[in-house]
Amino acid sequence: MKKIIYFDNNATTQVDPRVFEAMRPFFCERYGNASSIHSFGGSVMAEVEEARRQVADLLGATFRDKDNRAAEILFTSGGTESDNAAIAAATAAAPDRRRIVVSRVEHPAILTTVREYERRGYDVRLIPVDDKGRLDMAELEASVNSQTALVSLMWANNEIGNLYPVAEAAEIAHRNGAVFHTDAVQAVGKIPIELDRVPVDLLSLSGHKLHGPKGIGVLFIRRGVRFKPFVTGGHQERGRRGGTENVPGIIALGEACRLAKAEMAEEVRHLTALRDRLEQQVLEAIPKAFINGDREHRLPNTSSISFEGIEGEAILSLLDQFGICASSGSACTTGSLEPSHVLRAMGVPYTRAHGTIRFSLSKFNTGEEIDELMQVLPQIIATLRRISPFWQGDQA
Ligand code: PLP
Repeated sequence: MKKIIYFDNNATTQVDPRVFEAMRPFFCERYGNASSIHSFGGSVMAEVEEARRQVADLLGATFRDKDNRAAEILFTSGGTESDNAAIAAATAAAPDRRRIVVSRVEHPAILTTVREYERRGYDVRLIPVDDKGRLDMAELEASVNSQTALVSLMWANNEIGNLYPVAEAAEIAHRNGAVFHTDAVQAVGKIPIELDRVPVDLLSLSGHKLHGPKGIGVLFIRRGVRFKPFVTGGHQERGRRGGTENVPGIIALGEACRLAKAEMAEEVRHLTALRDRLEQQVLEAIPKAFINGDREHRLPNTSSISFEGIEGEAILSLLDQFGICASSGSACTTGSLEPSHVLRAMGVPYTRAHGTIRFSLSKFNTGEEIDELMQVLPQIIATLRRISPFWQGDQA
């Protein structure tokens, strides 16, 4: 395989080799069913419970039940299921409340799902953002009322990296008797999450965004919050989710959370330095390049950059020839390259939104990789601009 420079970590991350080693014995050696009575399977349950505590520790979720289990942690198949389960639980808990309030910049796991609730008769309110992607808090405040079943606001945005004021939003939800959920899929493992201080009721996370495997996630359900199973079946997860436990995934997620907690401070420093180096070099070397989002309040690893007058997909395919992986800010639906819903919600001008690239870094990236990117990126942008009908020239 040719050498890859991977700047697409918000799409998915490399499994940390230590995480892989932790999960490995649970495939061919300790493959028993954690819910079995026999000790070969049943003994695995102790490790599942240890993983549950490791996840809770990363989240600052301190509650333990009488058997020392971190009972607020429910294992799921990933972020999408957790988001779906949260919406289903909050609406089922208050069937007379018919309003759902979410931001315009949520992930499709939320936005597509609430649209389905709208078709079922729910009054769905989408809260706008400003040109930096910051939430309109006055609009949020005005939209949440005694009819609201659920307020859902992401902790961090996957495209632009913005961090959102979840504590304030939770307070607004609770003042109106609504459940508060946060999609923290992009935040967990990258920044501190302190659920002992931030009063969210439900929180989603996903293993493959923090150097764990794909297909494992968590819904945090605060003690006392009503929950109706979304996946029904057997009695696993104390009756809250049917289906044989994904033991290797659970063990891996526990280890990924343990490592994230132990190494977070160093990782944040590393990522912030890399991101700032990338942005500084881009802005110096390339005219008409713009950083999207709220530069004061965002993830340390995410940089969304718009290059005026060209197509993001063209940039990506030229970068790909050099083994460099990133993402564009487009939703390639039905062949038309519409700018993403996030950039549209921010009102990024079309000629800029089309040329948007998201670079998302991880602990495995290095300064040399940024330098290698910068050896080719200015030339790629200049070449594409020369042939672009939308480029008005450097002085435009
Ligand atoms: N929410 C956010 C903010 C995401 O970035 C993603 C994945 O891109 C998801 C939810 C979905 O997570 P999963 O891939 O585990 O279903």
